[in-house]
Amino acid sequence: MPKQISPYYSKTGEVYHIYGVCASGSAIKRGRKVSGKSNKKLCKACIDIRAGKRPR
Ligand SMILES: [Zn+2]
Repeated sequence: MPKQISPYYSKTGEVYHIYGVCASGSAIKRGRKVSGKSNKKLCKACIDIRAGKRPR
């Protein structure tokens, strides 16, 4: 199972991520990536990763 990391999100996105391997999380451009959760929801792909449904 992928290792969970500190929450991060995109300035332009509506969700936050907890896995570095998340496809949409890793697609965030440098400079738009921010640490924390803000008031965002957890990314659906990250939920699936945590549930073991997908490797990344
Ligand atoms: Zn994600």
